[in-house]
Amino acid sequence: MFSIYLYSDSPSQSLVMQDVTDFLTDLGLSAEFRGDFLSYLSLAAEEMAELESFLSRARVFNIETPVDFFETHPPSEPFEKELYDGFWVQRIFSRFFLRKYLGELAENGFHAVITGRLLGTYGSRRYHARVIISGFPSFISTSGLVEGPARPKEYYFLKAEFVRSGKNLSELDEAFRGKFVDYEDERITKITGPYVLQPLLHHFSGKEFCENPGCALFNSHWQKEVLDIQYSGLLCAECESEIRKIAKRR
Ligand SMILES: [Zn+2]
Repeated sequence: MFSIYLYSDSPSQSLVMQDVTDFLTDLGLSAEFRGDFLSYLSLAAEEMAELESFLSRARVFNIETPVDFFETHPPSEPFEKELYDGFWVQRIFSRFFLRKYLGELAENGFHAVITGRLLGTYGSRRYHARVIISGFPSFISTSGLVEGPARPKEYYFLKAEFVRSGKNLSELDEAFRGKFVDYEDERITKITGPYVLQPLLHHFSGKEFCENPGCALFNSHWQKEVLDIQYSGLLCAECESEIRKIAKRR
């Protein structure tokens, strides 16, 4: 039977994985949480060191320049805080996974890692933070939920004011609390479930999103949309029937 395999990679501490798998099983899907991705690989110390050195090369050093994986950076060179090139992280994770579990590729499964890493993709001359990266494995980034979808316009307007007058930005965050997803936001659990469905749909149909702004597979660009649409977890009739069809695949 077709199965969804979920892994974690230091996601937001407020994430409750059991609730995410319950959301998926309620749609008729078979979902299993396999724990921490790197622990699941149970790498030997030298393989772990190799993986870490690869990951350090996937870091974004300049938001306006695509990562050159084969370029080495001196350890002192500053880089964009915790932003990684999502496709390089995907290649690295997939390489180590297949080295250990090549046989799984022949099985009928979908693999997704819920990560706390901030993943970006390069386009229109700069990196953009992403909530999801489809592929093998797929990623759902809980940091991407915070940094990807835009906050209310007034937030950015006031932020510029705050920066100009040297005021503390935490006051601004306090004033807008609840209006955007925050790092340890307890709403992250309910929002993550629907986001697993986007790369899942992509895996089977090549499309990630639904045009219906009332459907949890809608491509939200604003925090308000995420908090209304993904948080509701509701699918339009067509997407629900498509997901239930996927669930019945063997
Ligand atoms: Zn839909």
